[in-house]
Amino acid sequence: MGDIPSMPRARILAVANQKGGVGKTTTAVNLAASLAASERPTLLVDLDPQANASSAFGVSNAPRHIYDALIGALAIKDVVMPTEMPFLGLVPAGRDLVGAEIELVSLERREHRLALALEPARDTCDFIVIDCPPSLGLLTLNALTAADAVLIPLQCEYYALEGLARLLETVDLVRRELNPRLEIAGILLTMFDARNSLSHQVAGEVKRHFGETVYTTPIPRNVRLSEAPSHGKPILLYDIHSRGAVSYLRLAEEVLARAGHAPAPGAPSGSPARVAGGVAGGAPTGGVGRDAPESAPNGGRDDDTA
Ligand code: ATP
Ligand code: MG
Repeated sequence: MGDIPSMPRARILAVANQKGGVGKTTTAVNLAASLAASERPTLLVDLDPQANASSAFGVSNAPRHIYDALIGALAIKDVVMPTEMPFLGLVPAGRDLVGAEIELVSLERREHRLALALEPARDTCDFIVIDCPPSLGLLTLNALTAADAVLIPLQCEYYALEGLARLLETVDLVRRELNPRLEIAGILLTMFDARNSLSHQVAGEVKRHFGETVYTTPIPRNVRLSEAPSHGKPILLYDIHSRGAVSYLRLAEEVLARAGHAPAPGAPSGSPARVAGGVAGGAPTGGVGRDAPESAPNGGRDDDTA
């Protein structure tokens, strides 16, 4: 008998919805940061040519990026950048990714390139979160082929469910043809406005359709979440007390629970207090980010009235 292969550790989550502007990037960035804040070594992979997840960390025109790993020119460890958070690494996107949809077509095992590239990283972190582009093209197929589960953000608006059937068909297809282990991690209601009856209607309809697949934490519409990227920071480092930050921390707890991770002991659910170590200090114990953070959470208040 040969050696027993070691079990990969990282759970790979693809944040996907071909509909534009539903909160994929905001979710990928802030979920990854919240997982890292609870001291789970996490890698955020920007797979969108728009590179919004990269710029959310103040990274533009990175010299090495995901494209180099997709085509096999560089190992994933050589494209990971540290972030301000000790447990969070970023694999940025760059301009070359624009052509990747076309260039990947001619490569062998073209849907498996990301899975192959990420394989070594599975042993060095607990979570890999992939931000997908707003399409069901080859890049998203790569994400779904690499992933253990897909997290689907749905914006709480009238056409929320539009296109969802096609996304779910694509997930089924990927499961049949490319990646039998692919699950639906959960459906996330985003930009929920508690004062707007349409938000409640949409949330109710989505829950009727999808039951427990829907995360119990909706993400509220919160202006702090939309401001944070222009400061190059995830919400936890921009305004840890905002409703957006608290919601993404709660979501991270649900994601951890669904992945079978025990919750951290101590502070109550979604509490900024619980995550202080992962945000503001501590040596990176095998973490994927290398630099100690320079800025602490600013403790600003949430003045979002929406
Ligand atoms: P794309 O399809 O272009 O990649 P996306 O699905 O990644 O878009 P985001 O970029 O995360 O969507 O969000 C779209 C816009 O909505 C951004 O300006 C973002 O700052 C804002 N936004 C996202 N979530 C929230 C929220 N909960 N509250 C307020 N604004 C939000
Ligand atoms: Mg995006």
